[in-house]
Amino acid sequence: MQQRVVVLGSTGSIGQSTLDVISRHPERYSVYALAALRQIDLLETQIDHFKPVVVVVVDSSAAEQLRTRLAEKGSTVEVHTGAGALVELVKNPEVDTVMAAIVGAAGLPSALAAAEAGKRVLLANKEALVMAGPVFMDAVRRSGAVLLPIDSEHNAIFQSLPASYAANPEANGVTHIILTASGGPFRGYKKEQLTDVTPAQAVSHPKWSMGPKISVDSASLMNKGLEVIEAHFLFGLPADQIKVVVHPQSTIHSLVQYVDGSVIAELGEPDMRTPIAHALAWPERIQSGVNVLDLVACGHFDFAEPDLDAFPCLSLAYDALKRGSSAPAVLNAANEVAVAAFLDNKIGFLAIPEVIRQTLAEIADCPLTDLDSVLDVDRRARLHAQSLVDMA
Ligand code: NAD
Ligand code: MG
Repeated sequence: MQQRVVVLGSTGSIGQSTLDVISRHPERYSVYALAALRQIDLLETQIDHFKPVVVVVVDSSAAEQLRTRLAEKGSTVEVHTGAGALVELVKNPEVDTVMAAIVGAAGLPSALAAAEAGKRVLLANKEALVMAGPVFMDAVRRSGAVLLPIDSEHNAIFQSLPASYAANPEANGVTHIILTASGGPFRGYKKEQLTDVTPAQAVSHPKWSMGPKISVDSASLMNKGLEVIEAHFLFGLPADQIKVVVHPQSTIHSLVQYVDGSVIAELGEPDMRTPIAHALAWPERIQSGVNVLDLVACGHFDFAEPDLDAFPCLSLAYDALKRGSSAPAVLNAANEVAVAAFLDNKIGFLAIPEVIRQTLAEIADCPLTDLDSVLDVDRRARLHAQSLVDMA
């Protein structure tokens, strides 16, 4: 039977890669719905190609424009609007699989609703786990949702763990997870050299082609910090058993270290279609369109310690994970505000960790019990971070 798939964030980098993989397997997958913020030109092309039943355009004026265009063509696609429509969409019983690929905190309510509804959840939106890890994982356990990580590192770890792992490192002889980091466009830079770097430099990643927010996160190493927190919630290891190593080639996507000295890794080209195809088909395997890895052409692999002095965001993320409760949500909110301000030329690159550090110092910890408590601390941390940005 065909899997009916919803692609949340279909116009983004992950969304487009997902549709590329799906288009190679029309017998296995049908696109039930597409959703995006407002990029209706690309959405229209995707609608023509994949013929979804429903489209959600969160921005209401963009949704209206799309309705007009589709009506002129005599299309029967339903166009819904507003953030609430994303949540309604993923709960629909017609939906089997949800690709959660909206960027940032905006992706949390729909990803969580998919987990609560017991769907097969392909999670690209790492911010959802960083903000709401305990709430999200609890929803997965209660509903029996199948949670498959799309982030390449976490997908690699998932593939390197036994199928029966069940977030129990000790019972499986797992001592450490080792996340690889490309180091981003500023690898090797000292702190002084980062003072005047521009958004254009920050988003030109040497190995991966990604949306602007995650590209800046990769340049600051906050992406790896968010991934450490993501790994903690997915795989049940404490912060001191999650290591980060810089590996500029981005061929080894991450590794699992076992008590007997074995280290198991997943390798491949740096192309997100591999983890996407893995998660779409799991436990089966399908073609992704990714080239086979040529080890001889790779020649050699390099590894180095991350430079925490030049890239303090990684340390801030470890600290937030160790502090627990709402600290990771505060870290994420402050980072989103700071990255948006950097992309908008309002603050410098080195101000990003400062905004986060000060926000973490000011916002008191509170227990995260449900979505509302997460959204409340997210809102307060954003206001605080925004006030720091406005003073800069
Ligand atoms: P992107 O910026 O390319 O795309 C973002 C998508 O989200 C777009 O479709 C946009 O329309 C949609 N969107 C943005 N704001 C929205 C809102 N308020 N409501 C509804 N939709 C909204 O981002 P991306 O690089 O594809 O990343 C998506 C997610 O996947 C992020 O959480 C990122 O951390 C994660 N991720 C991406 C990669 C990658 O290679 N791009 C790798 C690992 C994880
Ligand atoms: Mg990653």
